[in-house]
Formats: sequence, structure tokens, C-alpha cells
Amino acid sequence: MKVKIGLEVHLYVKLENNKTKLFCSCPINYKEAETNTNICPRCTGMPGNKPMLPNKEAFEKAIEVALILNCGIPKGPILFQRKHYDWPDLPNGFQKTISGTYSVPVGYEGKYNNVRISYMHLEEDPAKWDPITGYVDYNRSGIPLIEIVTEPDLIDSEETRTWVRNLMTALSYVNSIDKDLGIKADVNVNIENHPRVEIKNVNSLANIKKAIEYEVLRQQKALLSGKNLVQETRTYDDKQNITIHMRYKEQAQDYMFIPEPDLPSIQVTKDQLEKIKKIVPESPESKRERFVNKYKLKKEDAETLSSNLKLAEIFEDIIKESEINVTAKLLVRDLLSVLNYDKLEIENVNLNLENLKYLSKMLSENKITENTSKKILIELVKKDFSVKDYIKKHDLEIKSDKSELETICKQVIKENPKAIEDYKKGEEKALNFLVGMVMKKTKGTANPDIVNNLIKKLL
Ligand SMILES: [Zn+2]
Repeated sequence: MKVKIGLEVHLYVKLENNKTKLFCSCPINYKEAETNTNICPRCTGMPGNKPMLPNKEAFEKAIEVALILNCGIPKGPILFQRKHYDWPDLPNGFQKTISGTYSVPVGYEGKYNNVRISYMHLEEDPAKWDPITGYVDYNRSGIPLIEIVTEPDLIDSEETRTWVRNLMTALSYVNSIDKDLGIKADVNVNIENHPRVEIKNVNSLANIKKAIEYEVLRQQKALLSGKNLVQETRTYDDKQNITIHMRYKEQAQDYMFIPEPDLPSIQVTKDQLEKIKKIVPESPESKRERFVNKYKLKKEDAETLSSNLKLAEIFEDIIKESEINVTAKLLVRDLLSVLNYDKLEIENVNLNLENLKYLSKMLSENKITENTSKKILIELVKKDFSVKDYIKKHDLEIKSDKSELETICKQVIKENPKAIEDYKKGEEKALNFLVGMVMKKTKGTANPDIVNNLIKKLL
């Protein structure tokens, strides 16, 4: 049963100069601030309040994100809409958003890491409502949010989690979004040719994965037992790890979208667009192509490297001094598997670039073995230290000095008469065993080809 997954991801815009809400001058640092202190008549919906003009920096960051996602930017005017619904977190009774029935989004028809983007836009965040106590914290009300809506191009929970993670990492790496403020996602899941189920308010990467896993299983079970699935909205309960029916899917007109009469339309000017285009980094799509064409990388390696902005930058930095294929192997195969094993993300590990450069250089020059390098990586992701000193201290350079190796080979031959006998009877395995013993004595630092030849010669 083929699964289709689409996302509506809400991320917080990272403001660097004008750190205020979207339509008023209250600060956006809602996490550090005392409850209900970053507030004014506008963001608490006092009668008669009118919005200020939208925060220009927030709008330009939204265009930046649209360009990173390879979206088209509308040439015509963009209008804010009122999206009406009754909920304690929405003091005005409507949310000001660029989405909606009559809206032109900030960006449309894009693509990011092989997933099509339907559109993306800017909107204000509702307040924070606690359904248990009934308290509302308006510090969050009016903070600029971007929403990114994808086509149902994802096929399983892990792929979806990785895609969102890479998206968040890339956008926060270029300071477009503030990753620390978190993520709010609605996840659409359906089995091909069956109705779509929307799961609301899934608020972490781990929960996105778990909610999809639960929902896919639930839908598969229902179909297998002959039940019909219905189009509905469900919510994810992270304590019980289940999804629960909320309502049958509302239609767009239920929100009674109308153009916001208190705000003028916005036009993206040519100059503005040119200015933003200059700071937008290369997209993963074109990076991948460039890595294949320029560096002759394998497609899978190019894919892995280009989907993570930080990894791609590290790669291009290292290959200035090291061999391309050695570096790709070191990063894609060894480093990622070490990180994966420890459940670490490259963005959260304090990796010193000089150390990775040194490792790659030593590997490129055949001065350490892959095994040694991997052992060092395992330590390096836990704690930073000088790789150069470490190799010296533990005597880990490959030993190619024949006289030194010959002494060790002689010793091994002396200690293993049975293997010598077997070898002389024509058993190849015995030779491998002897080479292995030499490798062991040299802590894996001997050059195996040289050892092989030496032992043959000595026998
Ligand atoms: Zn305010």
C-alpha cells in the first residue's frame, strides 16, 4: 500500500535588526519574557485596534525562504487576508495571513530536496493557549511565522523527518528562521487512492515521525479489515502516541477569508528581489548537480552532501587540500555513520574543521588507515582534541619502514608454527592470519601490502 505524505510546516522567522512582531512594535523574545509582558492593544485584540505596516525585515526573510525553496515570486500585489475562527488564542477573531481563498502567496511552485513546494507565505502566530488551565499568553500573539506547504511527495516517516530536519537546518544556517523557537507542523497522510487525513499540531521532529508511523498503521489496519477511510482532521497525542479524531475536514470557506482592509497590498520590487537574490545560498538541487559535474562524485554521495548545507561546506573546504574521493568517503560513509550511531546531528557537534582536514589529508597521503581514521572519528564527535597530537602520541601512522616491520613479521612467524605449516601446505587463509597478527601487533598501523610481501619473502 503506497503511502503519500504532505506537510504544512510553520517556522519562526529569524529577525536580526527589527526584532518586533509582525504588526506592532512588541518584542518577539516570548520564551525569555515574563508571561503577558510583550503585549500592546494590537496584539491583544483591543476593540478598534489597527495593525502597523508589516515588519519589512520579516517580509524580506519570507522572500528569502521562497527563493531558497526555488519558488516563483509573484510579480503582482500581495495581500494580507483575515482568516476567521473562534479560538481563545486569537483575540481579534481572525488571523492575518497571506494564505487563503483570494491570496497570492509569497512563493509558489518550488522544489526542495526532491519535494515539490506548493506555496509558502507569511502570517502572524496566534497566542499560546493552555487548554488545561485556560490561561492565554499573548507574548506569542503576532510573532511572524512562515508556512511552507508541500505536495504529497514524501513516502514514509523517516524520509519525512529527515526532509524537515534538513530544511530547518538549511534555513537556520543562513539565518532565515530561528530553529530554537521550534516547529509547528500539520501532516497529511493517505494511502494512495484513499481519503486524506490531516494530523494537526505536531510540534517536533520526533513527533512528526511517530505520528506518521501511528497513522499509516491505523489506516492500513482499517483497510485490511474492510473499513472505509474518511477525510478527516485528527490531532496527535504525544503522551499516548496516538492520533485522535477532531473533526471532519473543514472547507476553506469555513474560515470566511476576506482581504485585510486595514493593510495596503505589498509589491515586491525588482531592486528588493535583486538584493535578496544576492544573499540566497545555492539550492541543494543545483549543488548536487555541480558536485556530480565538477567533482565527478557518485550521485548518492552528491545527494547526501548537498542535502546538508553544513556538510557540503565542510566538504568543499577540505578538498582544497585533500583528495576528493577520500574526503567524500570520510564524510559520507564514516562521519555520518559515527554520528548516526551516537544519534547526533552534525549541526550540534562541535567539530573542528582543522581536525577533519588533517584526517582527510593523512588518508589522502596514505599515512593512516581508514580503520584508524574511523576510530579517531568516534572519539572526535564526543570531544574535541588535536588529531595531529593524538596520532603522534598513539603512534598511529602507517608503518612502511621495512626493517621495523620485518622484525615484527619474524616474531609472528616464530610464534605461529601451525600457521606456517598450513601455509606451506598451500592454505591461503594461513597467510591472511599471519598478516592479521602483524596488524594486531602494530595496532593496525602497518601497511598490509608490505606486510603481505614481507611474510611471503620470509617464508
Ligand atoms: Zn503588540
